Amino acid sequence: MTVSISAPIVLPPSEAELLSTVPTGLLINGQWQDASDGGTFDVHDPATGEVLATLASATSEDAVAALDAADAVQASWARTAPRARAEILRRAFDLVTERAEDFALLMTLEMGKPLAEARGEVTYGAEFLRWFSEEAVRDYGRYLTTPEGKNKILVQHKPVGPCLLITPWNFPLAMATRKVAPAVAAGCTMVLKPAKLTPLTAQLFAQTMLDAGLPAGVLNVVSSASASGISGPLLQDSRLRKVSFTGSTPVGKRLMADAAHNVLRTSMELGGNAPFIVFDDADLDKAVEGAMAAKMRNMGEACTAANRFLVQESVAEEFTRRFAEAMGSLTTGRGTEPATQVGPLIDAGARDEVHALVSAAVGAGAVAETGGGPVDGPGYFYQPTVLGNVPNNADILRQEIFGPVAPVTTFDTDEDAIRLANASEYGLASYLYSRDFNRLLRVAEQIEFGMVGFNAGVISNAAAPFGGVKQSGLGREGGSEGIAEYTTTQYIGLSDPYTN
Ligand code: NAD
Repeated sequence: MTVSISAPIVLPPSEAELLSTVPTGLLINGQWQDASDGGTFDVHDPATGEVLATLASATSEDAVAALDAADAVQASWARTAPRARAEILRRAFDLVTERAEDFALLMTLEMGKPLAEARGEVTYGAEFLRWFSEEAVRDYGRYLTTPEGKNKILVQHKPVGPCLLITPWNFPLAMATRKVAPAVAAGCTMVLKPAKLTPLTAQLFAQTMLDAGLPAGVLNVVSSASASGISGPLLQDSRLRKVSFTGSTPVGKRLMADAAHNVLRTSMELGGNAPFIVFDDADLDKAVEGAMAAKMRNMGEACTAANRFLVQESVAEEFTRRFAEAMGSLTTGRGTEPATQVGPLIDAGARDEVHALVSAAVGAGAVAETGGGPVDGPGYFYQPTVLGNVPNNADILRQEIFGPVAPVTTFDTDEDAIRLANASEYGLASYLYSRDFNRLLRVAEQIEFGMVGFNAGVISNAAAPFGGVKQSGLGREGGSEGIAEYTTTQYIGLSDPYTN
């Protein structure tokens, strides 16, 4: 493994200049402003530990002021022509694309991912703006005759109302656009609370939405050091009509319980524990390539990250050898350096949790085929690791690893693979490798996952319905399903003009 780390004490001019363009206040009713108590919090570079920026930290009062603003414009925003909302989203797509290098560098600085991956996230994240600009004008209702022929049924979709959107730190742009774009398309107003570890991208994105012509009050942003200080009062406020959350399952459960108070609509994109199943007839070159993508995107800090490599006995040794070789050749370093393929983990706690899982697995008999420990120095780096011979009941196969660690375990028959894959409370992404399409379909029918990749290590796309089953969540983001999360159905019964 190669390590290339430099820890600048003074940020290079291009980075400092970019950071100086990021709004540091709260966005309430179209104005960037200080927190009501003047409070602030720092945002750090996980590759160096340096402070990148200091942002206003919203209080509960600020959260309520943001909801005041969202509520005040909800009715007029709902009446805005769908085409007008679509064109704002399309301009936002163009602006994010024009500013792609700024967004990419900002994500690399605050989150740590390599620049090439950050550029990929800008493309992916921007696509939600373009996709929902196209969906905004295609929200169809229906008109039909009742079965007995006496009356008519009219069905229309209306915006659900003001929404609280809470996003995680791992995909700072895409997790925001995946919620904001369908909400704008549907005619909802919003209070967005980005993760406190990576709020800078969302701050710049919100300014970009204003630049694209979004009216004041439609999108309000309350970055804060206290997440529950924001969600607490808003979930108790009857003007809020929906909460859309992406993050961990324990926090999602808590928010669902709190959302019960006002019987809110909820969309929950929670944790995952993706199986990556390699059958004996798989193309092993493709399987290793897919394994690298499914495991190492975002350093393994992704809800879709392959977490359990289930490999059929007869190809396990060969697959593990090739996979370990590929993982061991990766270059770890600060994401801004061109050679870097693996950035730091988000913080010291994340790195230590990953190492605790690896140590416990090795203690239970697993073998580190490559990697196996943290990297010394500034920043929270962990070696790309492949663990062979992992016992089927090891903790590392049950928990979200959220790091560059791939545990490999074996199976005998297809039925074993299905049973092992389903032995999880999660059901988000899954990956299957085989040359036999019928075999893939047969397995897909029987595994309990919201998303299945056939011979593909990357499956996220703005046009596809992203989401999970079981404790991975409720609802879908993207696809034609994405906008439905932000609308409510109204039925109007009409007496038939001819028969009544
Ligand atoms: P997290 O649950 O700790 O935090 C997510 C967001 O919730 C952050 O904005 C955080 O500030 C906020 N939050 C935390 N506690 C809160 C509370 N009590 N009330 C209100 N808000 C609160 O998750 P994370 O560490 O930021 O993200 C990693 C997790 O997110 C992983 O479990 C990952 O699988 C999941 N994730 C899921 C998807 C998906 O689409 N299913 C996508 C990305 C990440």
